[in-house]
Amino acid sequence: MSGRPEVLFPLFGGLTKLDGIGPKTAQALEGAGIANPRDLLMTLPQSGVDRRRRASIREVIAPATVTVEVTVGEHYPPKTRGRPYRVHVEDAETSFQLVFFHARGDYLQKLLPTGQKRVVSGKVEIFDSVAQMVHPDHVLPLAEAEEIPTYEPVYPLHAGISQKLMWKATRSALQMAPPLPEWIDAALCKREGWPDWQGALARAHCPASSSDLSPHDLARARLAYDELFAHQITLALARATLRRGKGISSRGTGLLQARVLAALPYKPTQAQTRAIAEIAADLASRLRMNRLLQGDVGSGKTLVALMALLCVVEAGGQGVMMAPTEILARQHLEGLQPLAASAGVVLELLTGRDKGADRAAKLAALAAGDIDILVGTHAVFQKDIVFNDLRLAIIDEQHRFGVAQRMELGAKGQATDVLVMTATPIPRSLALAQYGDMDVSVLDEKPPGRTPVQTALVSTSRMDEVVEKLRHAVAEGRQAYWVCPLVEESEFIDMTAAEERFKRLRAALGEGVVGLVHGQMPPAEKDAAMARFVAGDTKVLVATTVIEVGVNVPNASIMMIERAESFGLAQLHQLRGRVGRGSTASTCLLLYQAPLTESARRRLEILRETEDGFRISEEDLAMRGAGDVIGTAQSGVPRFRIADLERQAALMALAQTDARKLLHDDPKLDTTRGQATRTLLWLMEQDKAIRLISVG
Ligand code: ADP
Ligand code: MG
Repeated sequence: MSGRPEVLFPLFGGLTKLDGIGPKTAQALEGAGIANPRDLLMTLPQSGVDRRRRASIREVIAPATVTVEVTVGEHYPPKTRGRPYRVHVEDAETSFQLVFFHARGDYLQKLLPTGQKRVVSGKVEIFDSVAQMVHPDHVLPLAEAEEIPTYEPVYPLHAGISQKLMWKATRSALQMAPPLPEWIDAALCKREGWPDWQGALARAHCPASSSDLSPHDLARARLAYDELFAHQITLALARATLRRGKGISSRGTGLLQARVLAALPYKPTQAQTRAIAEIAADLASRLRMNRLLQGDVGSGKTLVALMALLCVVEAGGQGVMMAPTEILARQHLEGLQPLAASAGVVLELLTGRDKGADRAAKLAALAAGDIDILVGTHAVFQKDIVFNDLRLAIIDEQHRFGVAQRMELGAKGQATDVLVMTATPIPRSLALAQYGDMDVSVLDEKPPGRTPVQTALVSTSRMDEVVEKLRHAVAEGRQAYWVCPLVEESEFIDMTAAEERFKRLRAALGEGVVGLVHGQMPPAEKDAAMARFVAGDTKVLVATTVIEVGVNVPNASIMMIERAESFGLAQLHQLRGRVGRGSTASTCLLLYQAPLTESARRRLEILRETEDGFRISEEDLAMRGAGDVIGTAQSGVPRFRIADLERQAALMALAQTDARKLLHDDPKLDTTRGQATRTLLWLMEQDKAIRLISVG
């Protein structure tokens, strides 16, 4: 894979080679993310204008775009400055006016000579009960009227770029699009009825009606598939590269697992048992594991993680689990250490707070193999940390661990098996886009004995009432979280809001009853505040979103979220997931500031309707679109130019299956189809994939 195939050169050349594009326009296009003819071709029209020829403007109901043949009448230049120039015209049935602002008379005389026939196309409006067309889009002599497309594509526009220009430039770019060898499986192409790449582009840029703009149109579907397929090939290559790296198989004996299971006060759910088995099979295999464990909050991912870690310990190796925050790492330690101890397994904590001799001692123990399982923050991946025999790395709640980072990890060639756990349910299509390089286990069942959380919407104008209810609840021995608003993307402001709320609640409920944690607190204070809440010493914990991920306090049964409308759906779902973990009925109060916008109301209502994280994520996707749901850049999901993850979800699944199959049959992409696929990767600028093939 030495370089970009020559056949693609024109598509990656300068924009100024295209008709009607000078340096200035090229710059404007670049500002809009269109750097070359290829980008232009991948910018599809988003709507269209019907410009079928009509006999008269009477055939449409104003305001509407209409195209008619007219006989040009009198010109009425403006009598005073600032007034428009008017030209009287007549079609087959009626008369109307063409209206021009800041027009030059001599130009208009030439364009519209009195007594001659012209075809005009533009939007007719009624103004002062006179029909008029302001600045027609097209004015042409009859002989040239063919130039007006009967259905004119409308492109997404950016400053400095007109529709006319996009029209011209895309026509010219289409001339440059070469025929390319087919990379899509022949049978699939035939079954779907897809045109070839060149044909699909031509069709997508020349829609004949609005139905051609639907994501289900064959040309558009094919072009979307090309994008998704290229992305999935990249992921599949990453997956293959990663799996190749593995040399050791960790076959557990089941002994330690059995001891821990015997010490547990409950039985694993079926979903947990299934996930544990899937992971064990990966660990036992010689291929390197790269697996995602997806499970809603409270679905019991920690137990699955522990079983996986025990499996590698049984096989004589070590395991590490990384949590995103100090609080979570400590909580894992507290929850898991006793269980590990019951099986004679040494589990230790390492965070950024370990310093000096303590840290050195831990590192020495790790290197000697005296620590079996290490739990910690990202500190566990620091350079100077050496394991005796690391077999498994678990990354907990790490939804921001993107494809690119996983590829880096793979490129290092370590033999370590990787398990990523996420508590953010995401729709299947997004999961495929974001984690398509991984194998996925899903915990789709919650441990029994949970009581549903009652969710209610309350206006902040009823704050006094809310605090009064909270006082009663606390008197009954219940515990509550009070999450403070995300005022801005600023920890400082969050902190002020939280401190303010803390003071007020303390005044209302009494000293010692209310605790506070926020991101700006010194770590030791934060731990102490958490510990007091876990122990039940404080009853109400005022917090910023630091509690969002993973914290587990079963006795807490009330979740107050202030300014709930300022949070996203996924975040609200995560926060609510902190309660409903014990046997008491739990409540979640979404405190909002009236008036709510339409979409904010909808978000809060969805939350009231369901606790199903997957359903919530689908609704979130439908309301916001893919880029926003996963948080763009870091997520590793590219911004597709054509593919629409929401409406073309099925295509993504198809692309994954097809990509994996192709790489299975043709790992080096040597066959005719493999070669064509390389061209696709260049076309789609999948540099990472291209590098992987060149090294592979
Ligand atoms: P998450 O998936 O959000 O990380 P956790 O692993 O923290 O969930 O589990 C949530 C709670 O459920 C914990 O208190 C845990 O002890 C409990 N739990 C886990 N598995 C089961 C089970 N099979 N039966 C009953 N309780 C369970
Ligand atoms: Mg967890």
